[in-house]
Amino acid sequence: MTSFATHLECSRCQEDFPVDQIAQVCKNDGGPLFVRYDLVRAKAAFPKHGFSWREQTLWQYRELLPTSDDNRVSLGEPMTPLNEAPRLGAALGIANLKVKDEGLLPTGTFKARGAAIGVTRAKELGVRTLALPTAGNAGAAWAAYGARAHLRVIVVMPDTTPDVIVRETSAYGAEVYVVPGSIAQAGQVVRGACSRYGWYDASTLREPYRIEGKKTMGFELAHQLEWRLPDVIVYPTGGGVGLIGMWKAFQEARAIGWLDANAKTRFVAVQSTGCAPIVKAFTDGRGESESWPDPQTFAAGIRVPKALGDFIVLRALRESEGTAVAVTDEEIAAQMRTAGETEGMLVCPEGAAGLAGATKLRRAGWIRDGEQVVVFNTGTGLKYAESLQGERPRRLDEGALPFEERQVY
Ligand SMILES: *Cc1c(COP(=O)(O)O)cnc(C)c1O
Ligand SMILES: [Zn+2]
Repeated sequence: MTSFATHLECSRCQEDFPVDQIAQVCKNDGGPLFVRYDLVRAKAAFPKHGFSWREQTLWQYRELLPTSDDNRVSLGEPMTPLNEAPRLGAALGIANLKVKDEGLLPTGTFKARGAAIGVTRAKELGVRTLALPTAGNAGAAWAAYGARAHLRVIVVMPDTTPDVIVRETSAYGAEVYVVPGSIAQAGQVVRGACSRYGWYDASTLREPYRIEGKKTMGFELAHQLEWRLPDVIVYPTGGGVGLIGMWKAFQEARAIGWLDANAKTRFVAVQSTGCAPIVKAFTDGRGESESWPDPQTFAAGIRVPKALGDFIVLRALRESEGTAVAVTDEEIAAQMRTAGETEGMLVCPEGAAGLAGATKLRRAGWIRDGEQVVVFNTGTGLKYAESLQGERPRRLDEGALPFEERQVY
């Protein structure tokens, strides 16, 4: 089956561009391009009750994907669990809390969604070499899917990226470079290299297809809630692609009838106090963010000083009557431990930031009694081995049985 995609549209000036040629950002104003679909035909082609016989992967939403089904580059992308979390919810003060656990995807983060669709589309368009800057996990995901598609992949990341992620990326055969600074400095290198060597620039929102993969988080969530939306979605925000993707997903799902026309949800962007450009812009009532000087947080995936799509994130937050909140690294670390101990969920620091943000908003009364809240755990804590905490194992002397009675959660 081929795609219902009809064209690309600039998110700033709305000019159209062809979808069947390599395209990066808008030629007029550098705006990210969005894939647009023939929603009328897509609606006629597929009613939502048809999902019951489809495979439980992100490819089941193919009417609203830009790729042809025969060309899939896949490592098996399961629907991720939407877990209830009653004890964690009690700790946070949120009775109706669910955690969507993206750590079960290939490469251990939701970045696999963007890479599956992004690499499939790059391959369809005849790309042979792609390059991207990354805070870590996108590099790993594109390296894995790039290897699967037999492409050359160049990844540039900050020299502070967690070691496991750097090694993982190399293990997929990508050419990995580290630079001082953040993803911003890595991005400058990639843009220079792509213009010199003619490589495909797979940077966040500089190619239009990664977001189409991330969009499937939104379809899946709505699908798992029987095509309803939760009151609040809490999302740890770096480049903002996941949030923009879900926002786009819900618009499209309403248009083709998978969701009710009036279905809505409030989006929350959570960042670290050490790098909170979107929170600051939201609080200051601005339409775009300013680059955050000296970004610092151990939640590597949200260490993004300036997002190309910041204006779209801010629009989504305001139009959905959502908000943005910053949390400290100490709060993040504490939530990693709480999630592990209360529910057996080994959340990544970014997911823990989401939990910390939800806690703050609940205390402030912004999240109201009884509201259904979904927090995204965007990756597995295993990728952040050096940040895992808990009691150190105790060495046992021969013959010793020093065990005591103890209360568990
Ligand atoms: C990339 C990343 C994020 C931020 O995602 P965006 O959609 O770019 O805002 C959050 N968590 C993890 C684990 C990530 O790798
Ligand atoms: Zn434009």
